Amino acid sequence: MPIDPKIVKLKAIVQHNGHGVRNAKAPKLGVHGDNVAVDQDLCIGCGSCKQVCPINVYDMIDVAGKQKSDPVRQKECIECRACEAVCPVKCILISPK
Ligand code: SF4
Ligand code: SF4
Repeated sequence: MPIDPKIVKLKAIVQHNGHGVRNAKAPKLGVHGDNVAVDQDLCIGCGSCKQVCPINVYDMIDVAGKQKSDPVRQKECIECRACEAVCPVKCILISPK
């Protein structure tokens, strides 16, 4: 199941690390980021997005002992979409700024 584009379009009511968070009602971690959105409930923490990103948008963070990708520098994104292509669970969605 890939990231749901409808969730990304919702208004963010929580901010974290400089980006909006959607659909994060506990125990869900939710979708982190705005123009670079990662569904952290689907993310398996493989780190491929961080490795492939040419400008280091992502940090890997520890959430309850599990690694999750967080788009902490989403404003720097150049929309190359390499991260979307490489993500094995398709939990990233890039949108225009
Ligand atoms: S679209 Fe490109 S620049 Fe933007 S976060 Fe993904 S890999 Fe990085
Ligand atoms: S490539 Fe996908 S599954 Fe792997 S860390 Fe990044 S967002 Fe998570």
